[in-house]
Amino acid sequence: MSIQVKNIHKSFGAFTALGDVSLDFPSGELVALLGPSGCGKTTLLRIIAGLETADHGQVLLDGQDASDTHVRERQVGFVFQHYALFRHMTVFDNVAFGLRVKPRKERPSESAIKKKVHELLSLVQLDWLADRFPPQLSGGQRQRIALARALAVEPRVLLLDEPFGALDAKVRKELRRWLRHLHDDLHITSVFVTHDQEEALEVADRVVLMDHGRVEQVGTPQEVYERPATPFVYGFLGAVNRFEGQAEGDILHIGEHQLSHNTGGSTPLQGRVQAYARPHELQIQVAADAQGLRATVERVLSFGAAARVELLGPDGQHLEAELSREQALALNLQSGQHVRLNASRLSLFDLQDKAR
Ligand code: ATP
Repeated sequence: MSIQVKNIHKSFGAFTALGDVSLDFPSGELVALLGPSGCGKTTLLRIIAGLETADHGQVLLDGQDASDTHVRERQVGFVFQHYALFRHMTVFDNVAFGLRVKPRKERPSESAIKKKVHELLSLVQLDWLADRFPPQLSGGQRQRIALARALAVEPRVLLLDEPFGALDAKVRKELRRWLRHLHDDLHITSVFVTHDQEEALEVADRVVLMDHGRVEQVGTPQEVYERPATPFVYGFLGAVNRFEGQAEGDILHIGEHQLSHNTGGSTPLQGRVQAYARPHELQIQVAADAQGLRATVERVLSFGAAARVELLGPDGQHLEAELSREQALALNLQSGQHVRLNASRLSLFDLQDKAR
């Protein structure tokens, strides 16, 4: 089922939680709503679900205005961060619940329910837990059961609000891969809320970046990461170094210094700009006659295959470069050492974007 959100606006008193949000999700996509705490992700999810009403705007499900369709009729499945399974019911009964409470005419027979529940438990790979009670499960198992329960009524849309938010990092990582595989099997249009950029980039077909109740960018993980539309998106998706200066071809003039960058053959912005580089895009040179932005090494942190170098720029700003272990060994950087910086790539934005 496709989902379209048209000019949705939602205020709580004087506070605007969502300001004119429009989105279009084709059927079968796995979409991440990503943004900082309080940006309106959950509110948007609840409006799509029909749990919250918008002040104005529309939600279309398969092209049909859903405004007058009750939550129960929207054929939507939910999984929340703390999705309370019924503690006093077995895993089996929890998953069977949605089927057993259907109106008599639509309710499957007990034998059909049994078959269906076992299918779902196999799908989430927890058939062996059918007779346990929720308190006897791990957090990750509980969320998989919650998902099985949501899937039992064959929803046409699956909405997940920080489904793995309460779990530890390792389990989260496992479950998000698992969710991706499950989605590839089922192809149910799914929207999940997260504030974890790694989770969104790793799992989703498309990412919606939100800030202050507005959509900043919609794109594939690669698009939003490689071609962020705004400084906010750039900053939200990973560590950055920020510069302000005068751009001229492949040179950024910062005060008396010049930082060269590779424009990749394109014509970059010219004039006063703000410029961003990810740590791995900064290049460190140690030769006495090297050109580039002057910086001082603060410390070198070496771990695994990469080394992180913390530096101070000419105006005392904190900068961070990431090198391979081999590069770091070859440069043999020392705290207090003066170096020059250039960039393999800079992302340039208009200075007006600063207001965002
Ligand atoms: P988080 O990641 O912290 O869950 P979020 O992006 O999901 O955040 P929402 O829960 O959608 O954010 O909330 C958006 C804003 O609207 C927040 O500032 C929140 O305080 C406010 N808000 C949400 N629900 C209500 C409500 N019922 N009454 C008043 N303000 C609300």
